[in-house]
Amino acid sequence: MKIVVLVKEVPDTYGDRKLNLETGLAERGAGDVVLDEITERALEVALSFADKNEGTEVVALTMAPEGSTASVRRALAIGAGSAVHIADEQLAGADLGLSAEVLAAAIRRAEPDLVITGNLSTDGSGGVIPAMIAEHLGWPHATALTAVEIAAEGITGTRGADAGAQPISASLPAVISITEALPDARFPNFKGIMAAKKKPLEVLSLDDLGVSADPAVAPRTIMTSVSEKPPRAAGVKIVDEGDAAEKLVEFLVQNRLV
Ligand SMILES: Cc1cc2nc3c(=O)[nH]c(=O)nc-3n(C[C@H](O)[C@H](O)[C@H](O)COP(=O)(O)OP(=O)(O)OC[C@H]3O[C@@H](n4cnc5c(N)ncnc54)[C@H](O)[C@@H]3O)c2cc1C
Repeated sequence: MKIVVLVKEVPDTYGDRKLNLETGLAERGAGDVVLDEITERALEVALSFADKNEGTEVVALTMAPEGSTASVRRALAIGAGSAVHIADEQLAGADLGLSAEVLAAAIRRAEPDLVITGNLSTDGSGGVIPAMIAEHLGWPHATALTAVEIAAEGITGTRGADAGAQPISASLPAVISITEALPDARFPNFKGIMAAKKKPLEVLSLDDLGVSADPAVAPRTIMTSVSEKPPRAAGVKIVDEGDAAEKLVEFLVQNRLV
């Protein structure tokens, strides 16, 4: 079985995250960048299956700026057998539609049986890329899985919903997205880090994929303005002068917390 895992580099949520107020893009130089943890978990789902099923091929796929090689190498060090990095300057500021089109083209080219993604990235937070890719490919899409079983005939899993759990199944080829309920990725060991340097890493451009970023070819979303989050206001401090309970209730009611 061939599994493509969509891995994405994001600004580290533990560090400083800044938005460029002119371009609306993340300031990648403002802090550390890391592989989004949810995409590492997606990789773990593929690798756990590969551990038990000899001959499984796991490919890490990313669409990211040219300088994101370290993140791609991390996916290889964790255990992916090879990687594909779509790097093209025309993709800076790509909207969800273009991103999905580009990723779907790369998946079509790789001809996998299964695509595993995170359900939501920590930077763009679109949460729709997996569904859009499935639509482009005409494949079933099992969303937001909290448990997943992969087999040669198809996948089965559980979707956590508000009122309970939904067991689902899909035939292959399919796209699945997973949630943080699934286990953390294994840590890359020294052997993995050394091996990653020699694993195949293919870099593709838009021309290689036959996709155009020209808005005249396909309509794109245009970001009309961007603004920074307002700084956090100081919290409300209630000093007890015999009326704290009353003030507390008043605060909760005013803020619709009760
Ligand atoms: C040059 C360049 C600059 C970019 N700059 C930015 C930026 O500043 N901010 C930003 O948010 N994005 C940036 N991107 C990436 C791209 O625009 C976003 O990935 C895209 O809009 C997806 O949005 P999302 O993360 O909200 O998707 P979601 O739907 O929230 O993502 C869900 C899942 O889809 C998969 N996925 C999503 N995007 C990618 C990807 N690019 N590669 C592989 N898997 C993916 C992951 O598994 C992820 O967990 C850049 C890309 C390039 C090539």
